[in-house]
Parts: sequence; structure tokens; C-alpha cells
Amino acid sequence: MRFMPRLFVTAALLFVAGCSQPTAMTPQVSAAEIEAERRNQQQLAHGTVKLNYDDISYGKREKIAMQKHLQNVVDKMAPEAANMCRELQGPEGNCNMYVELSDDGEGINAYADGTKIVIFPTMVDFAKNETHLALVVAHEYTHHFMRHVQSSQGNVLAGALLGTLADALAASQGVGTQGQFGNMGAQAALLSYSPSFEHEADYIALYILARAGFPIEEAPEFWRQMARYNPEGIYNRTTHPTTPERFASLEKTVREIRTKQKNGERLLPNLKPKS
Ligand SMILES: [Zn+2]
Repeated sequence: MRFMPRLFVTAALLFVAGCSQPTAMTPQVSAAEIEAERRNQQQLAHGTVKLNYDDISYGKREKIAMQKHLQNVVDKMAPEAANMCRELQGPEGNCNMYVELSDDGEGINAYADGTKIVIFPTMVDFAKNETHLALVVAHEYTHHFMRHVQSSQGNVLAGALLGTLADALAASQGVGTQGQFGNMGAQAALLSYSPSFEHEADYIALYILARAGFPIEEAPEFWRQMARYNPEGIYNRTTHPTTPERFASLEKTVREIRTKQKNGERLLPNLKPKS
């Protein structure tokens, strides 16, 4: 029963906020496009080179190097990330960006808890490509400033009130410690964002990267790399979009951004018309 006080707080928030939905217009990806990418990823996953990041521990020196690497990436994107937050959320937005390297978290993981962003060492190791690590950080930052953490809390409780019951109630205990990005090797993946929030985080993150000058064409490859590490992600669509969906959606976002740049348009994500 120790999580009851948090439930009461969540209930109060829900009363005010209602059920929250994403606000960005993420690209439409057809079933055929996803199927084509699924075949690509199946081939990669069945190739001879398997990625193995299980049970790795890192020494102090390695962690210091990771910290530096992470700091570099954050420094490169932070000004544009904050601009994006201010432009989408206005003066009320919570645009602070605290990023830390977890000291003891294991697995390919990262999460936002509503206050800070935590990246696990194995994720820094896995996302060797600088653009990939930037994508991870910008994705979590988007969960943060688009208030996905709070919205998911509200949505989970709404589900519970409607009768999803015990599982969702237990899940609300885990808010703030859940693994969000990889959905694997999570310490306590008790609650995950809905696939639509994941798409929104991927989508807006890519705009942040483009503004900060990262070579965004490299970004979709992250999901092929993930498919080689965890082939199950190619097929399983439970709380997260599949890796082929995420790859295809990022590819379309790259094209959308490059078109806007060519036409001299401002790099702002497409938003749903306000109802
Ligand atoms: Zn996420």
C-alpha cells in the first residue's frame, strides 16, 4: 500500500488534465512500407553478426569517457532543444534539461522521470554513433517537455478507473523509474508510454537534431541496430512501436525536414489542428 499517496496525487492531476493525447502530426507510414522494412530487419537479424550487450560492466575510466561523450552530445543540442520546447510549450513550458549518466543502471535503456533524463552506460556504448546518442537524448527530452510522463500517469489511472484495474494500478507505482526507450533490459519497466507518444518523441527529437546540425540521415539506422540486438522488437507491438515502424517513420521525417529546409520553411514539427 505504500504507493497510495502517489495515486491520490495522480487522481487529482487527472481530474484537471483529463486524458492526454499527442499533439504532433507524425508521418503516416503505410503497412506496405512497414512490411518492406520488416523484411530488411529480418535479414539483418539473421545475419552472422549479432550484437551482444548483455551483462557488460564498465570500469571507472570507461564511465568517465562515456560521461564526456554524453556531455558533448548534450552541449551540441541543448540550445536548440530548449528553443523547441519554448516554441511548442510557451513560457509555461518546463524546458530545463538535466541529463545524467546512470551509475549502476544496466541494459540498453534511458528514461525521463518528469525532472531529469537518465541514460544508462550500456545505451551510451550501444549508440556509438553520435547522432544515435543524440536521438536518444532528444527523444527523452521530448517525453519530458511534452509532458508525456504526466500524461501517461493520467492515462494509466483513467484506464484503471475504467476497469483495467490491478495491472494499471500497480504500474502507477513505477512511474519515474521505467525504462522508456529500448523496452528491454529495463530495471522496472512497469509503465510504458503508448506507441503514439513514442512516435511523437521520435518525431520531435529528429527536428531538434536537424536544428542542431546533426546529420539526421543517420538517425533511422538506430532502429536497425536495435533489431540486430533484439530481433523480437521487429514483431512485438505491445506498448512500443515495432522497430520497422520506427525506422520507416524516421525516414519519412528526414524527408519532411529536408523538404522544409529546401523550401526555406522554419523547422517546426507539424502539429494537429487544435480542436
Ligand atoms: Zn520513449
